[in-house]
Amino acid sequence: MSVTEQKRVSKSPLNPDQHIDWHSLDAQEALELLGVSSKKGLTETEVQKRQEQYGRNVMTPKKQQSAFVRFMLQFHQPLIYILLVATVVTLLLEEYIDSAVIFGVVFVNAIIGYIQESKALAAIDALSRSMTAKAQVIRDGKKQNINAQELVPGDIVQVQSGDKFPADVRLVHVRDIKVDESALTGESVAVEKNAAPVAADDVLGDRFSMGFASTVVTYGQATGVVVSTGDKTEVGKIQESISSAETLETPLTKKIKEFSHLLLWVILGLAAAVFIVETVRGADWGDTFMVAVALAVGAIPEGLPVAVTIMLALGVSKMAKRRAIIRKLVAVETLGSTNVICSDKTGTLTENQMTVQQIVAGNKVYAVSGLGYRPEGQVQEGEQQVDLNTNKALEQLLVAGLLCNDSSVKEKEGQWTIEGDPTEGALVVAAQKAGFERGELEQKLPRKDAIPFESEHQYMATLHEGERRVIYLKGSVEAVLERSESMLLPDGETGRLDTDGINKQVEQMAGEGLRVLAFGMAEAEDLNSIDHDNMRSGLVFIGLQGMIDPPRKEAVEAVKLCQQAGIDVKMITGDHAATASAIASQIGLEGTRENGKLKAITGKELQQIEDRELEEIAERTAVFARVAPDQKLRLVKALQARDHVVAMTGDGVNDGPALKQANIGIAMGITGTDVAKDASDMVLTDDNFSSIEGAVEEGRSVFDNLTKFIVWTLPTNLGEGLVILFAVVLGTQLPVQPVQLLWINMTTAVLLGLTLAFEPKEPGIMDRPPRPTNEPILTKDLVMRTLLVGTLLLIAAFGLYLYERRILGTDVAEARTVSTTVFVVLESFYLLSCRSLVRPMRQIGFFSNMWVYYGIAAMFFFQALFIYLPIMNTLFGSAPLDAMQLLRIFGAGVVLLIIVTIEKTIRFSINKRKEKAAASN
Ligand code: ADP
Ligand code: MG
Repeated sequence: MSVTEQKRVSKSPLNPDQHIDWHSLDAQEALELLGVSSKKGLTETEVQKRQEQYGRNVMTPKKQQSAFVRFMLQFHQPLIYILLVATVVTLLLEEYIDSAVIFGVVFVNAIIGYIQESKALAAIDALSRSMTAKAQVIRDGKKQNINAQELVPGDIVQVQSGDKFPADVRLVHVRDIKVDESALTGESVAVEKNAAPVAADDVLGDRFSMGFASTVVTYGQATGVVVSTGDKTEVGKIQESISSAETLETPLTKKIKEFSHLLLWVILGLAAAVFIVETVRGADWGDTFMVAVALAVGAIPEGLPVAVTIMLALGVSKMAKRRAIIRKLVAVETLGSTNVICSDKTGTLTENQMTVQQIVAGNKVYAVSGLGYRPEGQVQEGEQQVDLNTNKALEQLLVAGLLCNDSSVKEKEGQWTIEGDPTEGALVVAAQKAGFERGELEQKLPRKDAIPFESEHQYMATLHEGERRVIYLKGSVEAVLERSESMLLPDGETGRLDTDGINKQVEQMAGEGLRVLAFGMAEAEDLNSIDHDNMRSGLVFIGLQGMIDPPRKEAVEAVKLCQQAGIDVKMITGDHAATASAIASQIGLEGTRENGKLKAITGKELQQIEDRELEEIAERTAVFARVAPDQKLRLVKALQARDHVVAMTGDGVNDGPALKQANIGIAMGITGTDVAKDASDMVLTDDNFSSIEGAVEEGRSVFDNLTKFIVWTLPTNLGEGLVILFAVVLGTQLPVQPVQLLWINMTTAVLLGLTLAFEPKEPGIMDRPPRPTNEPILTKDLVMRTLLVGTLLLIAAFGLYLYERRILGTDVAEARTVSTTVFVVLESFYLLSCRSLVRPMRQIGFFSNMWVYYGIAAMFFFQALFIYLPIMNTLFGSAPLDAMQLLRIFGAGVVLLIIVTIEKTIRFSINKRKEKAAASN
């Protein structure tokens, strides 16, 4: 039974589980089978019915590590191993309470680690999912942009270069389409597709009549009908999980992990040495073992990598609030070091709100009044609306703008908006202002074929058939002039092409910042379709339309901020050099000048420049115009060769390599293609330059807070390690026991340390240069401070312990409670100082981060439990303290804060003086 027969048998729509070799069917047959016409698409009601029947077009993500495995992995850490061994040893020594407490701590630690890791993963996952794919469909006879998840079998979809197929599609109509199917077949050479059926038993790679979900259109356009969605698609079947949960590892977390591993071995070596020396000295081996454990627990900053990951993940959500979606965690880290941003012009630095203001046709210049997309205004000759009969070239120019056009203008709730490309929208409005009716014209000259606009070719052409066949073409001035042989005159005749005159006119318009489009036409004679080959020459030049695209106000601000922050901003555009240079000046870019104007290097000139030479030129030039996408890659490499950390924006299919090469590849969320987004590290939801600046600010702030956390946390480990070592050397009992060290490390890291993640941006965060990537996290100053505070902790903890024991004769439990509390209290005071590493507190505001105070309050509450709650006394071997003991501890805290503040103040003024000296030189 053939498939068509099957359909006749079953009246109901297709059974979702039925197997059909769509690739071997005729396109028309496939459409019939799916009950849809390629012109009209499905009706809304039909769509709803099918949505119920087939479900959403989503792939069930492949199960990542199960929760259980992820929980167990929390135990896969060197320190935890040590603690597990300690649990067993204490158990053998019949120290049941210690054993239970150590194991309890390990367990709670795993739970906390698990929760925090899940949160970080979820945050990133949610963000990557918030960027849902879009799909162009025809439904109810109208083109619509919908969420790809809503697609159903039978939907008519349109794709073009840069898109991913949103589902498995039987192609119905194709135009030079090439598809990269490597996601599915592993074959990286793009495949050409067409609508003709292939043999039923052809393998996936040979099914040229199909477009498969998640493969990428690298060239051309196609229309097709959806045949399967979600898990039923070919990728869905092989369960190739597309939702790749990002790894949480970044160079920074790796470095820190390496650092703590190194430290681990050092400490283990020390511990072993202590163990051997003590045992030889004849000490009880159980006690010595506990000393070794104490050393390991105290001195290894095991919580550090996790804390860093959490702080980076927090940065991700802060950046999302500023409309920058992070796709790779590394970006958070790199943003803080970015020192060159290469940005698109149109839509990123400018509003992408185009209005035609000047028209040149038949050697005459006209002004167009009105602003925005409201079709109110005039094409003026002097002060009057022009009479089109007086200038046939003008008439054809406006017609070309209207017909060689895929965009439309609509009124919605009193607002005029465009659907499609703003450049084209402006042309529609200009024609309407002169009195043209689009519907009428399209009836007179229906479109037969089109070559869509691609940045690479810089033009678009359409073929029309009415009383006669005609081709209209619009594009960059260069692209149109190159193909023209004559020009249209006001009387409708053609005359000599005055290239010099046109170029002069263009220079003048572009010099004012106008975006200039040129138009041409040709007799089509007997052509039924057109391609690039038909467009090589023989065009009649019609004229020019110049439109303004004002700079975004926020972008001007943001550029200024970047420059203050030592970040170079460069414009990279496909637009004309003079337009680009004029807009760049308006925006305030800085670079080499020529005759007072910002010098723009064009793509053509770039081709002539050697790689070596380019490095220098790339560094000092602010504007790159008429740049082809593959040249962006060269620019990034040239800048990187000079050790710059480069952020580069992109939206097109061919921007992928440059985005990947850049240190931060930034894709446009609105206008960007799927390819660009896939290649990027970060996506701007509003396509706005100021969002990049915002992300850089957040990146710097995250890095600041990370450093603060590290500077805060390391002295504790240092102090703890020193206390244990001194105890061994002096032959005293341990002033702090392993379980007590565990208590300190666990509670302070969560309650105190992480509150630094909420520290607001420091004043002047965008007034200092970017952080060099090769600079260590701990500068010399900060290492010195870490040593200072570690030593102070040792003196306070050991000093007060000895004072209690030797002078007051306090019993050991109480004295140990004192030294444990010393760590907790001094860390709390030191936390206040770490809110800023260089600035005095009054500059950052005492109450700008209330979390710090809440954290300290919570810490003191828990410490009170530790001291006074009988059960805690049993568990941790602590004992109640009296007021005098507490007073001495707080006294030590105040002294520490004073000393650190003095140190900070001295350094601050020394550095300021150095800066001043450097500035005056
Ligand atoms: P950009 O967006 O940076 O200006 P593009 O590559 O999009 O760069 O455009 C390059 C040039 O192609 C423009 O300067 C313009 O002359 C021309 N152009 C832009 N959009 C269209 C379009 N829709 N149709 C025809 N030509 C266009
Ligand atoms: Mg563009």
